[in-house]
Amino acid sequence: MSEVLILGEIKEGSLDLKTLELLGAGKKLASDLDGEFSVVLMGDTVSGAADEAIPYGPAKVYKLEHPLLQGFKAELWLASLEQACREINPEILLMSHSFIGMELGPRLACRLNSRLTTDCIDLSIDSEDGLLLRTKPVSGGNAISVFKCPGEPQLATVRGKIFESPETADGKGEIVEMVPQIDESMIKVESLEIVKEEIVALDKADVVVSGGAGLGEEDGFELLEELTEALSKSFGTVMIGCSRVAVDKGWISSDHQVGLTGTMISPDIYVAVGISGAIQHLVGMVHSKKIIAINTDTGCNMFKVADYGVVEDYEEIIPALIEKLEELS
Ligand SMILES: Cc1cc2nc3c(=O)[nH]c(=O)nc-3n(C[C@H](O)[C@H](O)[C@H](O)COP(=O)(O)OP(=O)(O)OC[C@H]3O[C@@H](n4cnc5c(N)ncnc54)[C@H](O)[C@@H]3O)c2cc1C
Repeated sequence: MSEVLILGEIKEGSLDLKTLELLGAGKKLASDLDGEFSVVLMGDTVSGAADEAIPYGPAKVYKLEHPLLQGFKAELWLASLEQACREINPEILLMSHSFIGMELGPRLACRLNSRLTTDCIDLSIDSEDGLLLRTKPVSGGNAISVFKCPGEPQLATVRGKIFESPETADGKGEIVEMVPQIDESMIKVESLEIVKEEIVALDKADVVVSGGAGLGEEDGFELLEELTEALSKSFGTVMIGCSRVAVDKGWISSDHQVGLTGTMISPDIYVAVGISGAIQHLVGMVHSKKIIAINTDTGCNMFKVADYGVVEDYEEIIPALIEKLEELS
């Protein structure tokens, strides 16, 4: 039976959100292949995360526990994953397009004599030959291509916020212990220090208020900040996003950028202020649950994907909106 294997990642003892999304992808692909999906977890202690994975419905959770797998040491993780793949022999292996996925993916493909497609924004199964169709941006994001590569396992790294995590239920999956054959002599690069950067985690926000070139100047973001504050009284985590033009103009830092070359997000509410809706922007926010667009141009693309559209100068509508929110809170 075809097996779609997910490389799970663990953050602070729990399954990372991107892993849950990969489980959603794995479940869909496995169902299209009439097969099953499983997850492999690596680390010094993975039992908690393994139990957490079961309700998402994998047929198996492979536990690769070893004291040397504490922290990410590429050579040891690679050797362990290679051994697991040779034993499990999955048809497809999916990894997050994360630091770990990007480190392991190419090397694993080389060791297993297979081919990897990185940074996929969609995955499906070719109904004719059952091969994995891998969709990804190419030519610096100016085009989107679909690839198909023979050879097993079919390997892909996948962007976050593309797939939804599956519903949980009474999982009947089996936990399989595997013992990696690794030792310290395999370590070639050691990490001396981990520096945590202060970054804007846009993908964790419940509501994102984004500004584009239509703001006209940097000060426009001050008004968006006021709107953000008013919204945060009723809507959880509210953050500021932006289009690439706003970044290029130097109005705001690039970690706020939404889109193909920025962050992919799917918040409960996305408010696009003075953003035209270029494809490179849309691809990063079109999965938002509700989209509200404020734009002076009735013909702009953003209105085509918006649930609610306001045709108005943002400097008129946003203060009125803030006043109303203050009244209601
Ligand atoms: C390889 C590549 C990658 C890219 N990646 C990204 C990406 O990740 N993210 C991204 O955003 N872009 C990206 N871009 C750029 C993208 O193509 C667009 O140029 C950009 O998204 C446009 O930004 P904008 O909507 O803010 O500006 P514009 O397209 O200039 O739109 C401004 C909008 O504001 C409206 N407006 C004007 N005045 C007002 C007002 N007073 N009140 C309300 N509305 C007003 C206008 O009607 C217009 O619709 C990429 C481009 C390339 C080539």
